[in-house]
Amino acid sequence: MVSIAANVAAVRARVSGAARRAGREPSEVTLVAVSKTFDAAAVREAWAAGQRDFGENKVQEGLQKIGSTADMDIRWHLIGHLQTNKARKAAGAFAVIHSVDSLDLLNRLDAAAVELRQRERPEILIQVDLAGEAAKHGAPPDVARACVLQALTARALRLTGLMLMPPWSDDPERTRPWFVRLREFRDDLVREGTPPAALRHLSMGMSHDFEVAIEEGATIVRVGTAIFGKRQARP
Ligand SMILES: *Cc1c(COP(=O)(O)O)cnc(C)c1O
Repeated sequence: MVSIAANVAAVRARVSGAARRAGREPSEVTLVAVSKTFDAAAVREAWAAGQRDFGENKVQEGLQKIGSTADMDIRWHLIGHLQTNKARKAAGAFAVIHSVDSLDLLNRLDAAAVELRQRERPEILIQVDLAGEAAKHGAPPDVARACVLQALTARALRLTGLMLMPPWSDDPERTRPWFVRLREFRDDLVREGTPPAALRHLSMGMSHDFEVAIEEGATIVRVGTAIFGKRQARP
């Protein structure tokens, strides 16, 4: 039996520890509990333990869960690939979209958000593919740079940072250089003139490497397994 409440507390303590080791305030780091494949009851349990930010990687599954947890004050994050034809649904339901990786998607999200006239403008992060992993999602650095510039002129979206899914390794020390590179990419963009507030977030780090990510400047970590337990393979 997994105790989600105990896991939330344990992960929070580790987030705080990593932040302090890096000379940062724990409050600078937002923990997103990735509830993909788990049901609304699991979300409710984490929520009862004080968790407020939750992440989903599929629009449809996310929309269902958002519907069945509507009585809870939750900030929902879309962390998985978003197809342009689902941009409107995503813009209407998620507070933060981490996976913007093309100008086309950016423009569609902005147009949808303009039409929806929400009270809170959706926040977006640009997902960067630093490793040139063509099979994966994320914008290569030159496209990411173009997306950042374009997002600064968006009418209804708020750009707040960058997101990274680094090449997989079970050894966080092998992932550390990718975290460093995302931070440096952000610093380059700021040096080139992007307002720091538009790039204040670095969304990087998962269950097995979030402490290293925080040491390297993560302000948002996306943690599933360490909170909800091991996922069953999707059918
Ligand atoms: C599933 C997922 C996570 C969380 O992974 P865990 O290893 O379970 O913590 C983080 N980010 C993205 C984009 C994911 O799809």
